[in-house]
Amino acid sequence: MELAELQEVIAATFGERDAARGRAPTVAWLAEEMGELAQAVRKGSAAQQLHELGDVLAWVASLANQLGLSLDDAVARYARGCPTCGHLPCACPPPRPVPSGPDGTDSPQMLS
Ligand SMILES: [Zn+2]
Repeated sequence: MELAELQEVIAATFGERDAARGRAPTVAWLAEEMGELAQAVRKGSAAQQLHELGDVLAWVASLANQLGLSLDDAVARYARGCPTCGHLPCACPPPRPVPSGPDGTDSPQMLS
């Protein structure tokens, strides 16, 4: 499925509900789903991780729809590699180390 198609399906499925809810609650739901994804990454099965990735993508699509923005446009800045240094693979200095999680696994690093 393409990103534009995802946005269309999410709009057709949840568009009215999303518009009634509004942006701020949508951001709150997205943050909650991110928390569930983080938990699935730390201690979930591949099926649970896939489930949570889907939920996060759906909420991102919902938010993009409410903002009237295209996810294809959003990811365009990554189309030719690193948006900061312009190289593929990225040639930027490594980001600051992130503390390990309580179970010794690596914590996710955020893109700058
Ligand atoms: Zn870079």
